[in-house]
Amino acid sequence: MRTLPESFAPYRWAPSTEQLARRSGLDPVQIVRFDGNVPAQPHASARPGTVAAALARVNEYAHGGYPGLVRAVAAYAEVEPENVVLGAGADDLILLCARAFTGLGDTIAIAEEPTYPLYRVAAGLAGAELDGAEPALTFCCRPNNPTGAVGPLPGTRPLVVDEAYWEYAGETAAGLLDDGVIVLRTFSKAFGLAGARVGYALADVDTAAELNRRQAPLAVSTLSAALALAALADPPDVSDQLEERDRVARALRALGLEPLPSRTSFLFLPLVEPEHMGEALLRDGLVVRVFADGIRFSVRDREDDDLLLEALARQLERPAPVAPAGGRRARRLRATAETRIRVRLALDGSGRVRVATGAGLYDHLLEQLAFHAGFDLALEGAGDLETGPHHTVEDGALALGEALDSALGDRRGIARYGEGVVPMDDSLARAAVDLGGRPWAELRLERDLGLVEHAMRSLAQAGRLALHLEATGRDEHHLAESAYKAVGRALRQAVRAEGAGIPSTKGLL
Ligand code: PMP
Repeated sequence: MRTLPESFAPYRWAPSTEQLARRSGLDPVQIVRFDGNVPAQPHASARPGTVAAALARVNEYAHGGYPGLVRAVAAYAEVEPENVVLGAGADDLILLCARAFTGLGDTIAIAEEPTYPLYRVAAGLAGAELDGAEPALTFCCRPNNPTGAVGPLPGTRPLVVDEAYWEYAGETAAGLLDDGVIVLRTFSKAFGLAGARVGYALADVDTAAELNRRQAPLAVSTLSAALALAALADPPDVSDQLEERDRVARALRALGLEPLPSRTSFLFLPLVEPEHMGEALLRDGLVVRVFADGIRFSVRDREDDDLLLEALARQLERPAPVAPAGGRRARRLRATAETRIRVRLALDGSGRVRVATGAGLYDHLLEQLAFHAGFDLALEGAGDLETGPHHTVEDGALALGEALDSALGDRRGIARYGEGVVPMDDSLARAAVDLGGRPWAELRLERDLGLVEHAMRSLAQAGRLALHLEATGRDEHHLAESAYKAVGRALRQAVRAEGAGIPSTKGLL
């Protein structure tokens, strides 16, 4: 084997979630990763149904490659298909460019440091040196990881511009393809497909043809190609994430900190003792990327980012710039072939609720339940709504029940019983719950707009609670709403922390 330069260091992955959980003494589900620069959730199109056709033919090669995906990428990037080179993530294309343009004795230049470490790895693997005169290739990360800044474009050619975070910054060098520039992009960031490993390079027609000649045959799997193609049918809107990034940056400044201005989905926070901060945050299950002079973390969403802000404030012994997270919390991810539902629940919340599964009215009803229970609830996901709302509603209720069960822990010290009576115009609902641990549902609904009874049964089953629910009324919407609210009211009483003991004369639930 050809020896690598002595200075060569392979790419180093951060530890796995399981390893980090062991180190921090937490359940893996409680670990929140801010260190991957990826969105908090997959794209809505990343569902089993999207890959079903590819899976049915997974025994076959994609003979002829992926002309459909190449055309869709070209349309998205506003170039011709002949300008596109597919790869297994931008990483694959960084390695491809390094080995295509350079070899033993050549020089690769890296536009700025610190930057994404794979350019060094790629140079080492190609046998190229760094920092010599007259580079055979230059890498420029724009926007730059880890700073988040959009720097000037180097004048050297050929130039590879890594635009992994292009969607967030909106600035591209793709107009310079005929001027010796190769642009690299990825589906790992804004498109939320990091695990699928799909990226692409944009280059002038001749360069793209040469790169394709040197690329591994079928570097992208048929499953990943299907995911990428589905995602391109509805490209992500990152405006919410940018707003959230700016909110987090403001909160950090309110803490007296100075995050670097970022054009990406992450923030770099200069700190004096970043290692120490990283370890302290990990004890709370919050994983950031530690650098010599600061920490870098992805912007996730309000619920998760507030956990990080609160923990940072605690470490710095300063007042938190955000409302405190609710107590008795649980996180849950329920994924089946039909749905993917993510739940974050706090029993001692303040009615901060957001339910978004796409199952319209039922999302609204679950929000009512959680609000009247006094919970904080974020329940989101995607289901096979093309088959109707059945699976999504059922799994939403099951996921909430599982989160409730988990947040209740051993159920020590809770009130256990609760009741609620809620009128709504013509409708009246009465609910009683027992959180004793035995699932039961006694339901008498005069009418059901579809899935109310089913959802309640699912909640009782997964939450290991006995639920008695009666509702009467002429309007099925009112009836459903009063029923959900009554269950919420009953849960509010039953989850109340009252003492320390097991709420049963048996001494065991
Ligand atoms: N370039 C930059 C600047 C990155 O930050 C990353 C991932 N962190 C990559 C490329 C790799 O992307 P991919 O998952 O497409 O290989």
